[in-house]
Amino acid sequence: MKFEKVTGQIEIKEKLRQSYYNNRLSHSYLFYGIPGTGKLALALAFAQFLSCENKKETDSCGECPSCKKYEKLIHPDLHFVFPVITTSGKKSVSDTYISQWREMVLEDPYFSYNEWMVKLESENKQGSIYSDESAEIIKKLNLKTFESDYKVMIIWLPEKMNNSCANKLLKILEEPPQNTVFILVSDNREDVLPTIKSRTQPVKILGIEEDILKHALIDKYGIDEQRAIDIVNISNGSMLEAKEQISASEENKFNLAQFVSLMRLGYSRKINEALKWADQMSKTGREKQKNFLNYCSVLIRENFVYNYKQTKITYMTKAEEEFASNFARFVNASNVDDLAEIFNQAYYHIERNGNSKIIFTDSAFKIMKVIRK
Ligand SMILES: [Zn+2]
Repeated sequence: MKFEKVTGQIEIKEKLRQSYYNNRLSHSYLFYGIPGTGKLALALAFAQFLSCENKKETDSCGECPSCKKYEKLIHPDLHFVFPVITTSGKKSVSDTYISQWREMVLEDPYFSYNEWMVKLESENKQGSIYSDESAEIIKKLNLKTFESDYKVMIIWLPEKMNNSCANKLLKILEEPPQNTVFILVSDNREDVLPTIKSRTQPVKILGIEEDILKHALIDKYGIDEQRAIDIVNISNGSMLEAKEQISASEENKFNLAQFVSLMRLGYSRKINEALKWADQMSKTGREKQKNFLNYCSVLIRENFVYNYKQTKITYMTKAEEEFASNFARFVNASNVDDLAEIFNQAYYHIERNGNSKIIFTDSAFKIMKVIRK
């Protein structure tokens, strides 16, 4: 990854380049700061820059044999350590999961620890850098073969390293073999073991510059400028937070639109439209369907409350309230429980992998029966 592909972080890029040009490279860095600012991307770009055989003044060339291998994350002098899970019959070291790791990083190096756990299909397990990893690290760094001038060991989330692994690494962190650079990338410096912290040079990575983040969001997600500004204002310079804001509001928009369609076709009793709607809904993923059904339950309750003019205790967005101003009168004491039950039932069956097309068709038909009560 070239520096130019890393969003913003102009000052820190310059600092890193200068440390190389002034022969002031540290043998172990600790990049730290909140998630989503591009710390891992910076580590990759810096490592690629160090190894590039044809450096430009401000960036790696992207074309030399070293850069080409770096771009695929397969350079023999580039090593990764990251939290992994325990799987029976497999060694709990990073190499076991290296193909998933490469896939994840190559797709987008801005991801969270949770997203990584999902990638490992391990939402319920905790990732860790286990004791076995230390032997791998020492072995790799002591290999004599160098293809480029530098060996780089990127350790993502050193705060997940257990004590026994850390203790075995103290010596090599303090005195790594020649031309070896450790780059530790931490979301939470406070949780990094003190013995590790004291052997690394801290580099604080601040949030992405606001204006640059704004343009990146417009380019990446195709949102309009005002929305990008709103999101930047609440994202602390974090690409991850911005991404979450965007997907949360996209999901909300989707859910409201589907809810409106469902209520309209329910009221007008249009069988064909109901079938079409159910067909469409059945093509979205299960998680999205479950979120939608939850959303419907909440919105029915909100409309019921709104109908009785206790408007102050509703929690709706502006768009939801606009719809409620016409629709709420159809949600009353004689059908609110039935409506809620329709969504609960649907949720129950979706969660148990029922046929979603049948479930949504059935729900739409039931709504036709109760909405005019
Ligand atoms: Zn190059």
